[in-house]
Amino acid sequence: MGNVETTRGGAENSNPLSNQNLPPKAHSSTLQSTMPVHSHPVTQDYKISRQVLGVGINGKVVECHNRKTGTKFALKVLRDVPKARREVELHYMASEHRHIVKIFDVYENTYNGVKCLLVVMECMEGGELFSRIQERAQSAFTEREGAEIMYDICCAVQYLHRMNIAHRDIKPENLLYSTKGSSGVLKLTDFGFAKRTDATAIRPLETPCYTPYYAAPEVLGPEKYDKSCDMWSIGVVMYILLCGFPPFYSAHGLPMSPGMKTRIRSGQYVFPSPEWDRVSEAAKDVIRGLLKTDPSERLTIDQVMAHKWITHYMKVPETPLFTPAVLNEERMQWSEMQDEMEKTLASMRVGNEDIHIKSLKESNNKLLNKRMKKEKK
Ligand code: ADP
Repeated sequence: MGNVETTRGGAENSNPLSNQNLPPKAHSSTLQSTMPVHSHPVTQDYKISRQVLGVGINGKVVECHNRKTGTKFALKVLRDVPKARREVELHYMASEHRHIVKIFDVYENTYNGVKCLLVVMECMEGGELFSRIQERAQSAFTEREGAEIMYDICCAVQYLHRMNIAHRDIKPENLLYSTKGSSGVLKLTDFGFAKRTDATAIRPLETPCYTPYYAAPEVLGPEKYDKSCDMWSIGVVMYILLCGFPPFYSAHGLPMSPGMKTRIRSGQYVFPSPEWDRVSEAAKDVIRGLLKTDPSERLTIDQVMAHKWITHYMKVPETPLFTPAVLNEERMQWSEMQDEMEKTLASMRVGNEDIHIKSLKESNNKLLNKRMKKEKK
């Protein structure tokens, strides 16, 4: 290894914050990145393989091996632009958690005049969450197992939200297992749309000197919109986990219809028979709380973590679910479902950027104007 002191590869997970049950309290002022970035060539420390593990919108992920230990890792190659820096910094900050893909090393190298960021991550060899459930056609996949999976995902999200990071791209492709077999750990990855949500990161100079009481966005704060996007995603993942098809579907078995957007907006979904007949009322209660159309009504991660179906996941009934069979039957529709979820997440992110927090000067609220005049007197 070129720079052993700042290299995390192979180091034991010694960060006390890594305890999944003890997420850190929000300390926005301490959210400074301490990400060490090596500038010597990555090839000095790692042997890069031709094996492509996946291709994303921002770059390739290839297999690589640590030259000293021979351990296999995944290497994500990104153009070194500010957006990529943000992605890697936020991912690095969160990467000590058991249910978040770990970053071991980051390099800044130049190839043919192009500055690149190279991210060495743990290699997730167990594949995507739903591929694994799909393979379970032989042995029953139960509601209790579903609850345990949701508990793991929620632990990761609680950790992020308490650090004031919203992931904003939680979807099936970004939930990967560390290894094949029962010892595999489910982890969240791809921080390409992650965003800091603490007030100082959003509006450093705009904080009003007194709280405006008249408009919902101010009361709610933009940070909650970002976090509520994650809560909606958790709701969709949970729904699919318990039945094998997504909640906002034109008709079970048919491709998405143009009216789907409207249905998402108006929150029209059902728990159809027979798939949902034996699913517990507690599970449906969590989903109803997560798929609320009004983001301010949606459950927060702390509320979900306090729900008995999540907290006491080991007591959830071991009812066999239709999920593996439905996932197998509707294999063809999976990529359409992925496209739709991607589009909906994109519109939620854009929608949020549209929410403009008026400064007190800009706002023309009669009541507020009266109050300001009074205060000037
Ligand atoms: P993008 O941000 O460009 O969409 P991702 O981070 O989602 O890229 O990675 C693209 C694909 O690469 C993933 O869908 C997955 O198949 C694969 N991949 C990503 N990270 C890992 C990893 N740590 N181990 C194994 N495969 C990975």
